[in-house]
Amino acid sequence: AAKQDGKNLLRRYQPEMEAQAQALQNAYDLLEQALSQQWLSLHYQPILCINGAEAGRITGVEALLRIRHPEQGVLAAQSFISALDAPHLARPVGRWVLQQAMGQAQYWNAQGLNLGMMVNISAVHFLSPDWLDDLNEALTAHPGLQPAQVKIEITESGALRDLDVAARVMMQSTHAGVRIALDDFGQGETTLRYLQRLPAHTIKIDQSFVRDMIDDPHDYAIVVGLLDMATLLGLVTVAEGVEGEGAMQLLASLGCTHVQGYGIARPMPAEALPGWVAQWSPPSLPKPVMRVMPN
Ligand code: C2E
Ligand code: MG
Ligand code: MG
Ligand code: MG
Repeated sequence: AAKQDGKNLLRRYQPEMEAQAQALQNAYDLLEQALSQQWLSLHYQPILCINGAEAGRITGVEALLRIRHPEQGVLAAQSFISALDAPHLARPVGRWVLQQAMGQAQYWNAQGLNLGMMVNISAVHFLSPDWLDDLNEALTAHPGLQPAQVKIEITESGALRDLDVAARVMMQSTHAGVRIALDDFGQGETTLRYLQRLPAHTIKIDQSFVRDMIDDPHDYAIVVGLLDMATLLGLVTVAEGVEGEGAMQLLASLGCTHVQGYGIARPMPAEALPGWVAQWSPPSLPKPVMRVMPN
């Protein structure tokens, strides 16, 4: 009977596994083709400061990868996201994204539009021996850019893959002048314990907690906990996936420093960004309720 069960299980799961393997292969092929055909492109999503001296202002953007497919139009990351960590693709994609995003920020600087530029880098690339060379090469190629304008986003789960190497590379990257953000923060189970070992400048609170924080007491508790901890540690905090006015007001009163989400703006092509920033009018925001260190 056990053997029979095993067979049934296999029969049940094999098509699913084959479909998954096929989907992964398709993502690899698509991203590889996009690289070689120069179909890659970056969209930029504004980041709004909601606490501190710059509250109300758009202080930066996150660069998000898109494929401009000749037949299928603009493809968002979900159609190739699984390929971004492939050993043979992480580095070439990362190098392209770094060069493109820094070139864009440098161009905007020259137009008088100074924005922080947040760039997503696969942990596969970030933790590799090539990373610092690639970073320094890109910085050297863009003298019209302050390295501190650039913030490298690495996922919390990626950093936890090899904590010691991650901590060292974060420190070395910081010495090169850029800043580090821990992306999708809060998803890792060991979050609080390990944060003190990772020299991050910023945490980006994962949108899965932010989206429902108004209705779900558990998500709300997690967001409050992460914000209090990060604030006491002096970290910049970006809440991701802010879709409504209510969430933004609440986050401001909780001391969160920045928000990003469809409620402010969707990611947009580079050409659209300066006009969008020019029409932005600062919202009125509540003062944060302060929590203090015991003395
Ligand atoms: P991420 O870095 O956490 O980026 C945020 C994602 O949330 C983006 O999806 C963005 O479009 C989406 N988003 C922003 N605001 C909202 C909102 O209010 N509601 C909802 N539902 N979604 C929102 P996108 O562009 O599809 O990217 C997905 C993921 O793909 C990124 O998550 C990142 O992990 C990865 N990715 C994107 N670009 C790159 C890249 O250049 N390199 C690497 N390695 N990964 C990238
Ligand atoms: Mg990101
Ligand atoms: Mg994220
Ligand atoms: Mg994400």
